[in-house]
Amino acid sequence: MSHGNISQKINNIETDTPAPEVGATSDEQLALSAFLGFVRRQEKETRGVKVAIALAEDSLQRLADGKALAPYNSAQVAELAADGSASERPTAWLAKVWPELEKRLAQWELGLQDTACQAGLAIYARPKKTQGAGGAGNSSSFGFAFLPVQGDETSGPPAAPDGITYVRDLTLKPAFWIRPLVQAGFALKGWRRAVFLTYGLGGMAIFGLVLAGLWVVLTTGWASIPVAGIGSLLMLGSLVGWLGYSLLRPFWRLIDWRIIMAPDILVSIRERCVQLEAGKEPTGDGSHVRVIRLVRYSGDCPVCGETVHLQNGGREFHSRLVGRCDEHPAEHVFSFDRHSRTGRPLR
Ligand SMILES: [Zn+2]
Repeated sequence: MSHGNISQKINNIETDTPAPEVGATSDEQLALSAFLGFVRRQEKETRGVKVAIALAEDSLQRLADGKALAPYNSAQVAELAADGSASERPTAWLAKVWPELEKRLAQWELGLQDTACQAGLAIYARPKKTQGAGGAGNSSSFGFAFLPVQGDETSGPPAAPDGITYVRDLTLKPAFWIRPLVQAGFALKGWRRAVFLTYGLGGMAIFGLVLAGLWVVLTTGWASIPVAGIGSLLMLGSLVGWLGYSLLRPFWRLIDWRIIMAPDILVSIRERCVQLEAGKEPTGDGSHVRVIRLVRYSGDCPVCGETVHLQNGGREFHSRLVGRCDEHPAEHVFSFDRHSRTGRPLR
């Protein structure tokens, strides 16, 4: 689908043109269904999520009835979301709930696009607030924007019938200390590139020097050090070695493998099955920049329908990430191809 076509479609939503004929499934309907499918998979149903689901369901219903999409006011949204606390002062209620939804939307961005892309769509649906001019009778309205899916490095053949497709669901809470760095992806250019390389190479140098220093102390002065002192020095040496190994190993693995399970220290305790990915993103001038980000790939198990998350392959699938079904982790195991975001059964 061309871009002109898309912007025309977006205009169609905003001006009140007639909806497509009843019976024909339009791209907007498919995009809304894809949106619903993605949002319903979210673990926590917050008020914002409820509003998004209610809006999408009603919009779908309108299209199915052959009506055009029309913007909703806050009273209508509150009624759709059927939130008891909302009915008295819907505008104030929605003014609190909408920012919650916006925050989630920012985290879902990639997942929404992946889902639409996998449904063969060139557009995806995203809830949108249109600011009113202010004053009584001019309040904000709510609805959906249909935006073009941004292509990136990953695309490929669809999964086999018994295979699985993964999407990046980005509902992640990075650990508080790393949040400012990785919230929107950590682009490896400028000072951030320097920070990244300093961490890896500088870290190696520091740990190497400490270990070498300890070795020198032990070999040259061991006669003058009491036995207990040698013991503590050896303990210190292995502690430093272990610390360096566990802090620096993810760095090198990420460079080698482009995607690894995120070290726990980077992720909030409540999150699990999170990956650290060094992806390529277009910069707009034809070149690419590496972006390190926390993502979580997940998919629906083709056997039982439960959610599949990625885990380290362990001894059996050495050096690989594999998708394991939450309900039947031992048997429902799938490969993971980051390029095509698909997998095939491994059992
Ligand atoms: Zn399963």
